[in-house]
Amino acid sequence: MPPSSIRIMCPNLRCRAILAVPEKARGGLVKCRSCGGNIRVPAARSASPPPPVADADEGRKSAKRAS
Ligand SMILES: [Zn+2]
Repeated sequence: MPPSSIRIMCPNLRCRAILAVPEKARGGLVKCRSCGGNIRVPAARSASPPPPVADADEGRKSAKRAS
């Protein structure tokens, strides 16, 4: 299986089929091969929070103190 594919589970409780969909399908809908229902593909991984802005400021401050 190509690494650029993601796996999602059909939300249909009677189906629950695992589907492999391409990365480019993110944010869209795919059709379940098992039950024929539409499944929404999550647009992005939840494990990627926005970069903390305060962190960069703090890093600059400590760098100044070090030098
Ligand atoms: Zn299904």
